[in-house]
Amino acid sequence: MRQQLAAANWKMNLTLQQGETLLNEITSASIELLAHQKAVFAVPFPYLSFAQSKLIGSKGFEVAAQNCYHKKSGAFTGEVSVEMLKSINVNYIVIGHSERREYFNESNQQLADKINLILEAGITPIFCCGEPLAIREAGTQNDFVAVQLKESLYHLSAEQISKIVIAYEPIWAIGTGLTASSAQAQEMHAHLRAALSGQYGSAVANTIPILYGGSVKAANAAELFSQPDVDGGLVGGASLIATEFVTIIKSLK
Ligand code: PEP
Repeated sequence: MRQQLAAANWKMNLTLQQGETLLNEITSASIELLAHQKAVFAVPFPYLSFAQSKLIGSKGFEVAAQNCYHKKSGAFTGEVSVEMLKSINVNYIVIGHSERREYFNESNQQLADKINLILEAGITPIFCCGEPLAIREAGTQNDFVAVQLKESLYHLSAEQISKIVIAYEPIWAIGTGLTASSAQAQEMHAHLRAALSGQYGSAVANTIPILYGGSVKAANAAELFSQPDVDGGLVGGASLIATEFVTIIKSLK
């Protein structure tokens, strides 16, 4: 069974105290994760070590950074390097979220550079891709995400790409309350897997977890995650509510 992940993206929300309350509520919900399941919390940089300390003892619970810089080190005031994240034992880094692509002009090439640094450090990247509404309405979403994969990922070897997690996040469904239907999600995930298979072969493509993101909530998680190529979710708004996120974690296959 491929790895299945429920990943929380807190974005720029919650004080440390509110985050602690949320983690307390989630970890006290007696969730028993199976060996192939993970609950991942992408918390703001200042909370990473604290969140790690709160999750010690919760098997399968991990912390993720929401971003990293695309250069190794140096005079980049305000940025956070992969090496820094490695030095505090962060195991996952989200990159290429549509908010970062849109508000911070992150390019596919910068994401390729980030992926290289992340994999070199032995950390798992959670690589986000997805199309805006205009592309979906034009019906060219498959080509759009294929270019995102090609320009950020296809320089990787088969061994390297088998260490990544992909999150398909249609931009029109992020924070909007609009969710892709489970059929739309499955169709795109199958397309992504076929594209990976064309590049790396089906044995490699079949090991790569592909998460769905875009208004996942307790009420729709089980239906979305039941699709054969949907390996869990990357969750924004609903991950800030303990009861919602607990149900989402419990919806993993
Ligand atoms: C996200 O931030 O990655 C996301 C999918 O947000 P939301 O669940 O709120 O749509």
